[in-house]
Amino acid sequence: MGGATETEKTIEKIAIEKLRRKFPNKANSWIRRAITRFRENTIRQLNENTWIVDGDPKLGDKYLNYIVHFKDGRYHCSCFESSWGPRRKNELCTHIAAVILHREYSKLLQPIYAAIINMECEGDYHFEVLDKEVKVIKQVKALSSDAVEPRYRVTYVLMSNDPRTVKVRYACKDEANEREVVLSKTMRYMVELLMR
Ligand SMILES: [Zn+2]
Repeated sequence: MGGATETEKTIEKIAIEKLRRKFPNKANSWIRRAITRFRENTIRQLNENTWIVDGDPKLGDKYLNYIVHFKDGRYHCSCFESSWGPRRKNELCTHIAAVILHREYSKLLQPIYAAIINMECEGDYHFEVLDKEVKVIKQVKALSSDAVEPRYRVTYVLMSNDPRTVKVRYACKDEANEREVVLSKTMRYMVELLMR
């Protein structure tokens, strides 16, 4: 991606972080090879569970392309069937790593409906979404380390795949209430950025 914009670079960075978090024991070289394949832009999705990754002689590939298939919760790559296949069967080759990175990147560009709620509370607080279909992410920051009078900033991100208005119930300081929150359209990576 020679002419990548700042936004594209940011999304790529988040996708790489997700790959690293999924495979914390993989060496840096494994991650680097996945990034190289991803940046060469040689991954094409054939159908819901199949991708083609072009071979790169610089990375030791002997074939023109490789087929990565996702089945029963596992990835398989056509390089498993090559001459040094058996040894690699239980490993994740970097063709697969590149596909996972590609999928994470694409996911970050998908539209999503979200709302962010910030509360600054002293002592106990409560927050509840009265809609089971909504995904809720919670993040708490301590604003004071005072054990007697703790203060927190609590952030809730509400997410859904469809547009919706949800009812929330909350208690913070002296206020306890119920209100409606509209989830508005954004992209997944925007939510990721807000949670940092
Ligand atoms: Zn492979």
